[in-house]
Formats: sequence, C-alpha cells, structure tokens
Amino acid sequence: MKKKTRKTTGVKHCLECAICKEAILNSATLECGHSFCKCCVTEHFKYKKSCPICRKVLSGGYYPSYSLDALIQHLLSPSQLKRYNVRKSEEASHVNNARIGMKLDVLDSSGEWRVGWVKLVVDMPDCLPFLLVSYQNGCSESEELIAQNSQRLATFGCHT
Ligand SMILES: [Zn+2]
Ligand SMILES: [Zn+2]
Repeated sequence: MKKKTRKTTGVKHCLECAICKEAILNSATLECGHSFCKCCVTEHFKYKKSCPICRKVLSGGYYPSYSLDALIQHLLSPSQLKRYNVRKSEEASHVNNARIGMKLDVLDSSGEWRVGWVKLVVDMPDCLPFLLVSYQNGCSESEELIAQNSQRLATFGCHT
C-alpha cells in the first residue's frame, strides 16, 4: 500500500478544481453545488451541460462565490499563491463581451502583438463568439476571424 503523505501547506483537496486539478480560480458554483474555475466550467459547458463530478444534467448556469475565492487565497502557500496570481492575470487578459468598435490586442502571424479593433461579432451556437478583428500589419491592414477566447486576443493594453 502506498503511504499517504499529508501535505501541510497544500491546498485542501476540496478546494481543487476537478477539471484542471489546480486551486479553483474565480469560482463558479453550479446548480448541483459543485465548484470549479470559471474558465474551466465555461470550456466544459461547450461540450457537456452536466457536472464533471456528479454528472447531474444542468442548464449551464453558474454563480460566483466570492467567499470561496477569498478562502482559497487565504489557504494557499506563498508559492501556490504566486502561481494563482499568474493564472488570475492571464484570465483577466481574456477578452470578454466584445463589442463592435472595441479595441483589443491581437497576436499576428509573425508573433507580434498589434492593436486591433472588432469589426464584427459573430455569435456561435453553444460557444463563445468569433470576432472579425482588423489590425495594422506593417503597412497593410489585416482582417481575421478569431475566436473570442483565443490566446491570440487579449484585452487592449495588455501587450501593446
Ligand atoms: Zn480549473
Ligand atoms: Zn455536481
């Protein structure tokens, strides 16, 4: 039998997201009562409208739990908190609720971040919208259709 080592500084198992196995970030509590990271759950709901733990079929809604977020941060060790904050700032740079005319940062095909703007928001069934993004690429203007949650898009000013 394996000897169980008790982590004294580890995040308590119940505060871990069952999807990414990390400390729950921006907690999203489902109708069944289970909590996950908001980004993990939105990704999961694109494929399955059920709880990853108890398999209960759900409508796809969730609630934030600020006290759970605060509790998790309180229980993290300094190194875990560092990792948590990196994840948090990455999450914050994700584009949300894009509107036509909104400025954002776009990673072009050569790997440079450019300032772009949203020309069109294309709503997709069952997933986040795609954005028709226009940006200056050297002396020419490029247009590309990119998923709103793509790593190639970030909130304006995050990289430019
Ligand atoms: Zn997660
Ligand atoms: Zn559940």
